[in-house]
Amino acid sequence: MKRKHKCLALFSGGLDSTLAVIHMKKLGYEVFPMFFLTPFFGTEKAQKTADKAGFELIVHDITETHLKMIQNPKYGFGKNLNPCIDCHGLMFYEASKLLEKYHADFIISGEVLGQRPMSQRKDALNSVGMLSGIKDLLIRPLSQKLIADTLPIRDGWVIKDEMLDIQGRNRKRQMQLAEAYGIHYYPSPGGGCLLTDAGFSRKLKDLMDHHMFNKESIELIKVGRHLRLDKNTKLILGRNKSENDSLSKLAQDEIVLQTKDIKGPFGLLKATKKLTNNDITLASSILLRYNSKIQSEAVVQFGKNHNLDNDIKVKKMDAKKVADYLI
Ligand code: SF4
Repeated sequence: MKRKHKCLALFSGGLDSTLAVIHMKKLGYEVFPMFFLTPFFGTEKAQKTADKAGFELIVHDITETHLKMIQNPKYGFGKNLNPCIDCHGLMFYEASKLLEKYHADFIISGEVLGQRPMSQRKDALNSVGMLSGIKDLLIRPLSQKLIADTLPIRDGWVIKDEMLDIQGRNRKRQMQLAEAYGIHYYPSPGGGCLLTDAGFSRKLKDLMDHHMFNKESIELIKVGRHLRLDKNTKLILGRNKSENDSLSKLAQDEIVLQTKDIKGPFGLLKATKKLTNNDITLASSILLRYNSKIQSEAVVQFGKNHNLDNDIKVKKMDAKKVADYLI
């Protein structure tokens, strides 16, 4: 039976949000699955699941507001630099702004009560709702029987008995539901968000602490080995050919470095000051540290805008010393 009311769905590509969408579709609702794009979570996983499930995915870029939020999340961070409660709240809020555009009436998500330590406890689900400012329009189809009624239930747009009562970390019920709905493809839980990665979070925190928190610098921390030379200067080195190529593509007007005539890491200096000869010498000696073909010293070429038109002869840095610079 076709239902009168329509909903937007927060869709990550994981099993829970897939089940939430399918459950509502099976009940006859028109559902618009929506993925919120940030620099920390690409569309690949969501797009692949959407394609397999036959959903038409809507991608909405929230980079700007997400970058503001992450610098001061009201509910703090999880284990790493993942502000999950604020992040969910923001996504719901952004979805609420799109309700009119899609002639939709309410918003659903695949959140399951008590499944994740941070963002899906009962109080956390409540905080997410409060943060979004549209708490009364949210429905969590997988757990809605266990949580407070919202407007769609009170007004009869959604029938509570048709919702589910899944809770906890055990995913057995979701597996059974997937089987019943004929879903055979779904990615393993978690993964996909760089903010849950310890190494990435460390590098991101370094950017925040050194006034380098912007989209370009965030793209750079996805690639290579990162070293802090001083509070204004970072060195990034490719760890293999593919990273060298990626760094080279990302470089704009920064100073870049390479060992002369000998293959090795590509280096990029990201700085918020004018670089001196001492900075170049330091960066070059670190670059040589990661070039296994160099014994003790070599010539490093460097320059701006990919013009390696300057030379400097430097000694390879001692292995122990280089650890002091690693982020
Ligand atoms: S895991 Fe990442 S994308 Fe998901 S809610 Fe947390 S911060 Fe946001």
